[in-house]
This record gives sequence, C-alpha cells and structure tokens, in this order.
Amino acid sequence: MTDDAPEELAERKMRFLFALRQRGVTDPRVLHAMERIDRGGFVRGHFEDRAYEDTPLPIPCGQTISQPSVVGLMTQALEVGPRDKVLEIGTGSGYQAAVLALLCRRVYTVDRHRRLVTEAEAIFADFGLSNITAMVADGSRGLPEQAPFDRIMVTAAAEDPPGPLLAQLKIGGIMVVPVGQSDAVQTLIRVRRGETGYEYDELRQVRFVPLVEGLG
Ligand code: SAH
Repeated sequence: MTDDAPEELAERKMRFLFALRQRGVTDPRVLHAMERIDRGGFVRGHFEDRAYEDTPLPIPCGQTISQPSVVGLMTQALEVGPRDKVLEIGTGSGYQAAVLALLCRRVYTVDRHRRLVTEAEAIFADFGLSNITAMVADGSRGLPEQAPFDRIMVTAAAEDPPGPLLAQLKIGGIMVVPVGQSDAVQTLIRVRRGETGYEYDELRQVRFVPLVEGLG
C-alpha cells in the first residue's frame, strides 16, 4: 500500500473505477467489490505505485497480477451469486480471489507455487477475508475433494478447457477460461454446463501466462 495523502489516494481510486467502467465493467456488484479490495495490497516492491493503473504487473515466481479491467470482465462474465462455491485456478497475487470472495459464499483458490499461496494467505488475513481457502495444487486437475463447483475461473491459459474442470462444474454452472495455443493471444471462453451438455461462448482476446501441469 502507498503512503500518499488521502485525497491523492481517493482520486487514484476514482480514476481506477472510471477506467474499469470505460472498458466495459458495468456490473455494480463487481465494481463495488473492486472498489473495496485495494489492489495496492497485492502488488509489492517496485511496482506498488502502479497498482491503480489498468495494466498487468509482475509478481514473484515469474507470474503476473492480471490487468484490473480483465479481472472485472472475467468476474462479471462468471455471474457469481452470494451462495456460490467458486474455484479459482491460479492464485497468483490473490487479487482475483479477494474480489470473488466479496461476491460469493466460498472461494477455493489453487496455485502450483507454494510461495504465492503463502503470501496470498497472509494478505487475505490482513484484509479480514475468511471465506477463501488457498492451496498448493495442480489446478489442471481441479480440486476433486471439494467438487462440484457453481463457478470456476481459470486465470492461466490452457490449450483447451481442461476435462477435469469441466467435470467438476455443477449443472447450471459457469466456467471462464482463457484458451489458445499461442503465448501471445488467447480467447476468453465462457462455458455453461446444461442438463445435456456444455455451451461455449467466446468473449474476447486476452493474454495470460500458461497453465503448466505439475507443481512449481
Ligand atoms: N489470478 C491471479 C493471477 C494469476 S497468474 C491474480 O489475481 O493475481 C497465473 C497463475 O497461475 C500463476 O500464479 C501460476 O503459478 C498459476 N498456474 C499456472 N499453472 C497452474 C496449475 N497447473 N495449477 C495451479 N496454478 C497454476
């Protein structure tokens, strides 16, 4: 967090929310959650003073905290309800999980890097977020012991939506996942599981770090 004057902070926050709206984040519940979760708390070191810019930033283990507007658009696309049990693959900084935690009943978030999970847990405690369970696991297998989930958000890019994740989605559930073979551009997909099958819908182009199998 930065130690700027309160007025300066308030203005940065206003600009942050304005940029989100301009980029299509219009769901008032999502905007409210992103107003409450201070991104500055999840960005450490050199990049702290860029926390309110709409840009991805580096975090430890060679990973990135996503661009805020992408966090907003993905959260919005997930249509999270207050009773939902949500799985996030790719804890990273913990920012996305914290935003989700304000919108649902419980978030399970997994990352393949222990350091990221440990650091994110400390931040969740600082923020008083008690409905997040963070674990070290290979998210490409999902989290069978807690399945099924109402919602699944994948914040690393896979070649295809991983089979175990599709299987761990409840009927009526939604998954948002970036897919694509290239490192440079992927397509954000929304999957809805119906009674008889899965329905896919392409949302936009995005760029995420790859989903890597096994632990880091
Ligand atoms: N959601 C994060 C950003 C995620 S960056 C945030 O809000 O900051 C993508 C993350 O996915 C990285 O931390 C990376 O370690 C993790 N990851 C990649 N492959 C994974 C896998 N198979 N299982 C779990 N986590 C994985």
